[in-house]
Amino acid sequence: MTRCITCQKPVNRNKAHMSIKLEGELYLTCCPLCQAEFEKNPGKYIRQSESKRSRR
Ligand SMILES: [Zn+2]
Repeated sequence: MTRCITCQKPVNRNKAHMSIKLEGELYLTCCPLCQAEFEKNPGKYIRQSESKRSRR
């Protein structure tokens, strides 16, 4: 299941408010608020998904 990059809610890819492709990864936002939040501080959310990988 894909998650909204900002609020971490599960998001159906077909129902996502918007999808953003960055550095080969696809990020989804569930609503305009989450999109605005992501655009305000994209580095914060992108780094979060990276650290998730090393946590096992
Ligand atoms: Zn969201």
